[in-house]
Amino acid sequence: MSDTALSLLQRIYGYPAFRGEQAAIVAHVAAGGDALVLMPTGGGKSLCYQLPALLRAGTGVVVSPLIALMHDQVAALRELGVAAAYLNSSLTPSAAAGVEQDFLAGRLELLYVAPERLLTPRFLELLTRASVALFAIDEAHCVSQWGHDFRPEYLGLSALHERFPAVPRIALTATADALTRQEIIDRLDLSSARLFTASFDRPNIRYTVVEKGDTRRQLLDFLRAGHAGDAGIVYCSSRRKVDETADWLAGQGFTALPYHAGMNTATRQRHQERFLREDGVVMVATIAFGMGIDKPDVRFVAHLDLPHSIEGYYQETGRAGRDGAAADAWMAWGLGDVATQRRFIEESEAKEAHKRMAHGKLDALLGLVETAACRRQLLLRYFGEASEPCGNCDNCLEPPTLWDGTEAARKALSAVYRTGNRFGVGHVIDVLLGKATDKIAQWEHGRLSVFGIGRELDEKRWRAVFRQLVIQGCLDIDHTAYGALKLTEAARPVLRGEVPVTFRETAPRKKGERRAGPGLLGPDAALFDHLRAWRREAAADHDVPAYVILHDATLKEIVARKPTTLAELATIPGIGARKLDAYGREILACLSGAAS
Ligand code: ADP
Ligand code: ZN
Repeated sequence: MSDTALSLLQRIYGYPAFRGEQAAIVAHVAAGGDALVLMPTGGGKSLCYQLPALLRAGTGVVVSPLIALMHDQVAALRELGVAAAYLNSSLTPSAAAGVEQDFLAGRLELLYVAPERLLTPRFLELLTRASVALFAIDEAHCVSQWGHDFRPEYLGLSALHERFPAVPRIALTATADALTRQEIIDRLDLSSARLFTASFDRPNIRYTVVEKGDTRRQLLDFLRAGHAGDAGIVYCSSRRKVDETADWLAGQGFTALPYHAGMNTATRQRHQERFLREDGVVMVATIAFGMGIDKPDVRFVAHLDLPHSIEGYYQETGRAGRDGAAADAWMAWGLGDVATQRRFIEESEAKEAHKRMAHGKLDALLGLVETAACRRQLLLRYFGEASEPCGNCDNCLEPPTLWDGTEAARKALSAVYRTGNRFGVGHVIDVLLGKATDKIAQWEHGRLSVFGIGRELDEKRWRAVFRQLVIQGCLDIDHTAYGALKLTEAARPVLRGEVPVTFRETAPRKKGERRAGPGLLGPDAALFDHLRAWRREAAADHDVPAYVILHDATLKEIVARKPTTLAELATIPGIGARKLDAYGREILACLSGAAS
């Protein structure tokens, strides 16, 4: 009896059903068609080439840009009982020769190859002698010269089509924008490939944006409210802040490790390994960390500073919750971030057109942090997708109150004008509040008509007003003059009282109610810990990351259902035939041991 795609999915991977477009993609490629697959991180791209490779005769040859990723993917396949191997510069010559022999003899279902190796005359010759089921080109956006992941070797991959026109090709990426997509099609010669575009929505990720106050306290509250013991990433904008934050979190009892480009390679690699292999490590990092991090159980991504663009933000937060279970994307931002970024853009060597684009991208992101509407809706609209309010972002869960800020806006703008468009937000607020500071005395600002006209709001509220006026475009921050506020053209009608202004209330939200789903309690929590401890040992024995043994979601399902027989255990998603065979008895022993 020949296997169907679905029966293989169930038997090998232990998953009951395909997700979204997976079934159509697998069918198309298994039948020999070319495909370009655009799917968000965590969407399930790997199955789209792995299953056709299993269904077709010969070996699926997978081009992948990152050695660490190849290693973990091959380890995961072997755990599933699939004959897989990789060829890259980390292998000794004799190990590589062994893999080549297996390939030629048809003993491999999947072979992962680094692009530079694939294009050597030697390997191309090998391909003519082997039976190839398909070519999969993972992270296909690496072919884009405008993207930040550009890999020149990817340009040579069009040779595959010329040399092996009969072998189907499937290119996959999570980078969705139209420009990159067109580049992939052009450069990889995929104009006749069928395009599969999945929704870029990540419904399990909950988006929350807060204004910076005491940022460390805010982060701590966020972590303690729902992420104790979870693996996650905390992004900071500078190396120094990474180091300081990691130290501080460690002092608060978290397993927190720093990661940035200023550290030596060995330490960086060690930290990355620990993040991948241990449970519950918090990686504090600059955006140097992340590409190719395949860890499925990252439960949160926190930004302690404003990201640079919506694309960047989406890519970074997309590293949370690849396993589909509830995850959080949390961001704290302040006006200072905006000032710093504007200054960086201005001071960069880039061309004017490029600077304008960078400012525009920042503006789009500010629209996201400022919106009172559904954040997911705005994100998806940015990527060209229409959607309904999601019910799983901070604004949906707790709609912000709006207040009529017309009067407050006029007062704020007048104060900026009367003090001469030359002071930062702190001083202008002091004027509004009628404070007797040295600076006020020095500039004789106590004599101004605006002095003390804003006592109805406190300093915090005024800061929120100024922040929103900047975002709404009524005020500019002058980066050449220590963050001085300046009126823009848009401020005039507001000053004259001709247009109403609405602000969102920025009172701190109630703590603790936005946790990432119910945690486990009592005996179940103990059982989960017990299973995690067993998994840690199994992972160490096999020298693979813990999630390669079993995912958290699978462990949680085991805890919920408490199977007592192998047959019951086999019905749990994530337990395929091979894992049942290898670990079934140990898992049942864990369960009965914990019960007695
Ligand atoms: P991507 O490469 O698109 O980021 P992966 O292929 O790594 O995503 O898949 C993300 C996670 O989803 C993996 O843990 C994978 O095992 C799981 N997954 C993929 N397809 C399914 C499915 N049909 N049912 C259940 N889980 C799935
Ligand atoms: Zn929403």
